[in-house]
Amino acid sequence: MRPAHGSLAKSEYLLPAIICDTGSVSIFRHKPDVKGHDMTAPYTEWVSLGGNNEDDIGGNCHLVTYFDGKHAHSILVDAGNKFSKVPGYDQFFPILPKGVKATFCTHGHLDHIGATAHLLNHGLPVPPAVYGSSMSLNVMRIQLGRVYGNENPWPHLHDMEPREAVNVGHIRVEGVSVSHSIPQAMGFYVVTPTARLLFTGDCKWDTQLPIKPVTDVNGLQRIGDRGLEALFLDSTRCQVPGFTRPEQDVRDEIRAQVLANPQVDEFIMPVMSTSVQRMAVLAELSQEMNIPIIYEGRSIEDMLEAAKRSKIDLKKMYPGARIMNARSFQGQEMIKQGIRHFHMGTGTQGEENAFFARAMRGESQNVRLNQAKTLVLFLASVIPGNEAACEPQFAKLREMGIRYVLIHTSGHGSAEDLLKYGEVTKPRVLFPVHGSRAHIDHHASIQQEAGRKVQMAMNGDRWRWDGKGQTPYYAGHIDTKALACKEMGQKWVTNPKSKTGQEVLRNIYEYKIVDSWDAPKTESGIVLPAKKKIVLAGMEPVGPK
Ligand SMILES: [Zn+2]
Repeated sequence: MRPAHGSLAKSEYLLPAIICDTGSVSIFRHKPDVKGHDMTAPYTEWVSLGGNNEDDIGGNCHLVTYFDGKHAHSILVDAGNKFSKVPGYDQFFPILPKGVKATFCTHGHLDHIGATAHLLNHGLPVPPAVYGSSMSLNVMRIQLGRVYGNENPWPHLHDMEPREAVNVGHIRVEGVSVSHSIPQAMGFYVVTPTARLLFTGDCKWDTQLPIKPVTDVNGLQRIGDRGLEALFLDSTRCQVPGFTRPEQDVRDEIRAQVLANPQVDEFIMPVMSTSVQRMAVLAELSQEMNIPIIYEGRSIEDMLEAAKRSKIDLKKMYPGARIMNARSFQGQEMIKQGIRHFHMGTGTQGEENAFFARAMRGESQNVRLNQAKTLVLFLASVIPGNEAACEPQFAKLREMGIRYVLIHTSGHGSAEDLLKYGEVTKPRVLFPVHGSRAHIDHHASIQQEAGRKVQMAMNGDRWRWDGKGQTPYYAGHIDTKALACKEMGQKWVTNPKSKTGQEVLRNIYEYKIVDSWDAPKTESGIVLPAKKKIVLAGMEPVGPK
């Protein structure tokens, strides 16, 4: 029996609730707005649950649902976190609706996998299957091992190759490689009986990156030829004209600095720990110039380990490069003997306990900081908002009379990169995503100027496709609230696998549902009782614990 219009709210998939000890709280309110459309016929719907925020970027999460006339089949593309601007709260996460069958992770950055990783880390339910490239999932596995003591929790994490396809009910998802700062980033071509959608995740065009695969131009072209109702494209860097500078330019600039400074024997190189492409550039230079790399910082160790497990072994790619951990015997010997080296370390964003801040406070035995013999090559950009935390390090360098140079290129596509994605995939409609309203506005205008049909959407706007070859229509809005979390203090867990250990890990955060992804409107949020386990209704893990 076909459901009547009035009963749709009940048969709809989007009726999740967060259940805590005080009862249930409804998160999404269903407000259909689809006059003139047969609401009992199959359709595909996309809604951004996070990432198209009013004020800033982060917390990326797309929900795609295919309604076959009777049942809904939903997947997520990414479930990331966003750093909270609310004092006392560490992070924001999207609230995941019930009934989602799988999450597809575009790449291993926390604003794309952070929510999934966090929920898994704390024993909270996530959709029963998680797919992504080997690198994306190894980043998650290593985090799970660090925090939870178990790298293989339920649900299972499924490695996926580019161009491989996975079927989730009536939804077929195919990976396509894109270039980004962390290797093995993948866009997803999502095909349902009524729509073909492409989510790029974070991307730039640069096809000369040292670690392959890079942007799969043929694959993107093929997607365009097969048909694309909508392209969902990264907007983070759309305000910068031209193409994003290739990674090879960074290599050339570092080489020029090294050659111009023969008196320097200590090149301090703060780097983002996920910039494995940048590390490959350094490995190439290490091989070419016969200068060893000493790396320092746990997150770099983790990232190199994730890369190695994902068949990205810098030592194999550049056999002449010498790469060693500062904690290793060889690393310590190099440092003691004062051998000319690259000292690659963490802490580009002013993190207090990371290598760079410790070195600048004089707390690292591994650096000499000599006016004549040290040069700092800062291989990252300071993320807006972190300036105040970073400035003391630079002030210290100026005070000590140590020179520093900033050399960087972004992992995100600039205006020309983005136009190229549109040109190659030829979507009927392009949705700018991953950005604040200002980014999305700007991205829309540059694509429109280039003759592309663009549709703007913010978090919670629902867009539907009734059939292939059609343009989407607006189907109303849902409230995309966020989950804010607050760390309740560090707790030492002797055995994280024990029942008590797991219970403690689940409860070291307090969660609060906030009305908006943006800071100023959060006061009306509902505070959940502290230290109570929360369960997302309908998303209890169903496999082995
Ligand atoms: Zn990213």
